[in-house]
Amino acid sequence: MKIIDLRSDTVTFPTDNMRRAIFNAKLGDDVFEDDPTVNSLERISADRLGKEAALFVPSGTMANLISTLVHCNRGEEAILGDQSHMFCYEAGGTAAVGGVNPHILPNEPDGTISPDRIKAAIRQDNVHFPRTKLICLENTQNKCGGVPLTVDYMQTIRQIADANNLLIHLDGARIFNAAVALNVDVKQLTIDADSVSFCLSKGLSAPVGSLICGTKEFIYHARRNRKMLGGGMRQVGVLAAAGIVALDEMIDRLADDHKNAKRLAAGITDIDGLTVDLDTVQTNIVYFDITTDKIATDAVIENMDKKSIQFLALGPKRFRMVTHYGIDTDDIETTLTELKQVMAE
Ligand SMILES: *Cc1c(COP(=O)(O)O)cnc(C)c1O
Repeated sequence: MKIIDLRSDTVTFPTDNMRRAIFNAKLGDDVFEDDPTVNSLERISADRLGKEAALFVPSGTMANLISTLVHCNRGEEAILGDQSHMFCYEAGGTAAVGGVNPHILPNEPDGTISPDRIKAAIRQDNVHFPRTKLICLENTQNKCGGVPLTVDYMQTIRQIADANNLLIHLDGARIFNAAVALNVDVKQLTIDADSVSFCLSKGLSAPVGSLICGTKEFIYHARRNRKMLGGGMRQVGVLAAAGIVALDEMIDRLADDHKNAKRLAAGITDIDGLTVDLDTVQTNIVYFDITTDKIATDAVIENMDKKSIQFLALGPKRFRMVTHYGIDTDDIETTLTELKQVMAE
């Protein structure tokens, strides 16, 4: 029996084309910058995002940490959303490894951080204060329901950054989901950021890896920091080969994941005891809440797991399901049927 795994889009397996590309990949030692497949992935990624250069790294977490290390000195400050992955889910690396002070501002329900709040948070020059250096944004905004940040919003924050001599790092783990959902060229979403990270290992279905994109000079420093953190890998063209296939073949189909997520959300609103904020369901993530005391959150997870359907409880009353390449429309219908039954029991 198929397991319907809706825990995350990171559970995706490499496609047959990726496995073939991995088998056939031309390899070299990437720490010597000798691996032709990695070099090619980095060039394709930089071009795709409209940046001068790119660097392949093991994870999105390392991509964000390296970017912070390049942009900020110890004791400087980065503005981060209180719902951001960098603040919530990266083991405090910004502070612990970077010595960078996180200045936390609330994420609005639409994933943005209010421009007025950002302006008010920027420190004046004063010996008491940490120096504000960096604004970090996340697109799509995972914990806000995978909502995409718009081109307009990026431009607004760029103006604030320019007026205050600040840099912008964009955690674009799912930037291609944002581009597909908004129907814009991904470059329009990245042009206003000084650095961008994105994941190959989520909706794009590659097994491992993220890219950091920015200026040549930024990537030069990023490479040194990657080495320092132990992220210099050798014949890593075996992974980059899958990444190239991901960028060639797996972006347009994200629209199917978004359609499946919307169908899932619409179905959940029809189940007694559950509620979804449909406005937030614009990409492949569906958060929904339990509104009844008749069944415990854990019991829902357990009973669904017995039916081979997996998803996460991410709060006392809150669940998350994520659609991806391994989930088809039949799986969505099965999930809704079984969930309705579990809630009625
Ligand atoms: C998954 C994710 C990351 C980190 O990626 P890993 O490869 O799991 O380290 C960073 N930011 C966001 C928004 C993510 O969803």
